[in-house]
Amino acid sequence: MKYDVIIIGAGPGGIFSAYELIRKCPDKKVAVYEAGYPLEKRHCPIDGDKVKSCIHCETCAIMSGFGGAGAFSDGKYNITNDFGGTLYEFIGKEKALELMRYVDDINVSHGGEGTRMYSTSGSEFKKLCMQNKLTLLDASVRHLGTDINYIVLEHLFEELKDKVEFFFRTPVERIEKLEDGYKVICKDCEAECKDCIVSVGRSGSKWMSKICEDLDIATRSNRVDLGVRVELPAVIFSHLTDKLYESKIVYRTEKFEDQVRTFCMNPNGIVVNENTNGIVTVNGHSFEGEDKKTENTNFALLVAKHFSEPFKESNEYGESIARLSNMLGGGVIVQRFGDLERGRRSNQKRIDEGTIRPTLAATPGDLSLVLPKRIMDGIIEMIYALDKIAPGTANDDTLLYGVEVKFYNMEVRLNERLETNHKGLYVIGDGSGVTHSLSHASASGIYVARQIAGE
Ligand SMILES: Cc1cc2nc3c(=O)[nH]c(=O)nc-3n(C[C@H](O)[C@H](O)[C@H](O)COP(=O)(O)OP(=O)(O)OC[C@H]3O[C@@H](n4cnc5c(N)ncnc54)[C@H](O)[C@@H]3O)c2cc1C
Repeated sequence: MKYDVIIIGAGPGGIFSAYELIRKCPDKKVAVYEAGYPLEKRHCPIDGDKVKSCIHCETCAIMSGFGGAGAFSDGKYNITNDFGGTLYEFIGKEKALELMRYVDDINVSHGGEGTRMYSTSGSEFKKLCMQNKLTLLDASVRHLGTDINYIVLEHLFEELKDKVEFFFRTPVERIEKLEDGYKVICKDCEAECKDCIVSVGRSGSKWMSKICEDLDIATRSNRVDLGVRVELPAVIFSHLTDKLYESKIVYRTEKFEDQVRTFCMNPNGIVVNENTNGIVTVNGHSFEGEDKKTENTNFALLVAKHFSEPFKESNEYGESIARLSNMLGGGVIVQRFGDLERGRRSNQKRIDEGTIRPTLAATPGDLSLVLPKRIMDGIIEMIYALDKIAPGTANDDTLLYGVEVKFYNMEVRLNERLETNHKGLYVIGDGSGVTHSLSHASASGIYVARQIAGE
């Protein structure tokens, strides 16, 4: 089979490149190869009843399939160069913002109309944060919510399905370089193309490093973020979340001058398990629909750990720490802040007696046995700093779930066209290490499609 363009991976990066390709060059023959299932067939077997924990499916329905890792996410599209990736380093800040706004227009016109756009600009919270040694990052955020995000994906698939050939449950095993293009090789099939867009996200990170090795593409890897997910009564953060929805706040610790930051804030949301390469970590969701809202807000507190040469296994370091929590707790561990401060583990009785009803059934335990002291100290310092702008954050009953790990893909060496050292082989989205978010991954897809279209 021969195509003009083959896209590997149907996450936001792959979807938006396909969308833009058929818009800009409708005559091009485009195929998408995806390891996971179509959207409607993506079901995680954990039902809390018969299946309580991860049974390690061949492809994880949460991370893989049409919509990628973002399909069941909270659908927060942050339009900013301050976080979410470094796309601007390749294409410039103005262009990056313009593409993120374009992605927002597409989302809004495909089911996202009626959802809210929040903004930090001109807000009084910037000053309040500054007065308390905290920095509020600038962003506009479109909050689709898990439910509307799903609807947008359904509409996008509807629009693409007759114009693009989709191959689901077809993981690509190898890419071979030809004289004028590439051969994409799967277990039971293969196809050729002139241009190849690789958009395999976080779940494809190990595969990506193998491809880079095979094709002699330079890479670099040195960062992992580690921390906990905090859950507290929604009213404690409501003055911030009502106005900003999500606030990205950064704190520089006094002791080690490490950076701790809030990440993925879910007002009235739930805490969830996440499975990365068989290791259970923690994450969070929230819903747009009133009926699904809870009385709690959750967000992650993460400490960025940068390693220097020659250490290259930053993700393995994060995985080892997450594995420790799985070993001690059989999965995610939950601890009351008051118990952590008193140097004792939480138990079910103390959690039940607390004022906060946990939204995730995790094992009560002691996070200080899992996270390195330096990281734990940074998190505790930041909880007290946040307590000054949102009194109640440092209450004894505040729940900490661990561990939350933000893995970073290794960075693939790319030129300003997001092209590797091989002409016509592009790497986009989180798999490139350039992006770590829905907006940036989607924008990188649009950008490369336009490069191929000759713009
Ligand atoms: C629970 C959760 C919540 C999140 N919430 C947010 C949020 O609110 N806001 C935000 O900005 N970001 C969020 N993120 C991150 C966001 O989902 C990612 O940044 C985004 O999905 C990256 O898009 P991508 O297309 O690069 O990769 P992905 O979405 O990871 O898609 C990659 C696709 O490639 C496929 N693939 C991998 N290897 C192969 C192969 N060899 N052959 C064929 N296919 C392959 C995978 O199956 C997958 O479907 C969240 C992530 C998770 C897990």
